[in-house]
Amino acid sequence: MMAMGPVMVILGVIVFLIGAVVGSFLNVCIYRLPWEKSVIWPASHCPRCWNAIAAYDNIPILGWLILRGRCRRCGLSISPRYPLVEFLVGLLFVAVFVVDVVYGPRGRYGYDIGLPLATFFYHAFLVALLVAATFIDYDLYVIPDSITVTGMIVGIAGGWLVPAIRLTPSTAESHWEGLAVGLVGLLVGGGLMEAVRRLANLVATTIVSLVNHRYCRVEAMGFGDVTLMAMIGAFLGWQAAVLTFFIGPFFGLGTAIVKIFNKYRKLLGGRKLSAVDREVPFGPYLCAGALALVLSWRWLWPGWAAGIFDTLRWIFWYFLNVDAGPSV
Ligand SMILES: [Zn+2]
Repeated sequence: MMAMGPVMVILGVIVFLIGAVVGSFLNVCIYRLPWEKSVIWPASHCPRCWNAIAAYDNIPILGWLILRGRCRRCGLSISPRYPLVEFLVGLLFVAVFVVDVVYGPRGRYGYDIGLPLATFFYHAFLVALLVAATFIDYDLYVIPDSITVTGMIVGIAGGWLVPAIRLTPSTAESHWEGLAVGLVGLLVGGGLMEAVRRLANLVATTIVSLVNHRYCRVEAMGFGDVTLMAMIGAFLGWQAAVLTFFIGPFFGLGTAIVKIFNKYRKLLGGRKLSAVDREVPFGPYLCAGALALVLSWRWLWPGWAAGIFDTLRWIFWYFLNVDAGPSV
């Protein structure tokens, strides 16, 4: 392990650079995908003077710093969010690399680097999708299908091609088991979210209709959250999807309380609601929950989560009056 130190540092730098380049591409996705524009054509350009951004100005993070955040031709300011997203994705990729490769399952798989690397790429792909979904949902209260459907396909295909790519207890022994784990994760994640979405929409519709003395259909939660949770389940398995669902709201509690308070204050005061009042983007917090699980699962599952699921399973079977099965 000690001898591996310098090698790991060099690899870490390379992984950061890969992350920054991916972040640069995600910036394009965040800006264009919601409008169903091509992410490949045309090349990045200034939205005001239409000046194509030169390759040397388009270097992740550095390009923005060299230009000091302004278009080289017309001086239009470029949001600091671009380099920040690049930096963030670089850091997240390094974090996933540390968790999956440096602290990877060396004992179990010897010095075979193949599986830890596969798991790293699998998780890095998910992280990239989560970052894109977070910023698009935050900006526009939508999560494009192009992100979540891509994620469902890659999540399921990855588990099918490399059955051992997921962490315990979702590690599979065969291709078909890997496929099944992904499909179950997709259905549980999406199904749970869909149930909650219907309930939330019913409650919101009832409250707003009562306040307005007429039927007003309110969409409290969008279908994007459902496909997002299906994607998370397809990648991480159903247990992680369930936990994401419970952890996510903690990340968003503050924002949500303020927004809901403002919304009902305006409603009761008879004022008009703006889009900002109506919706709490749930996606970013689900993404944050899933990210936290990707980074902590190796320790969280054996240390805490397995016990919870074991208890839940025991309660479930107890109420069905059946003997609890063997413990996890
Ligand atoms: Zn310009």
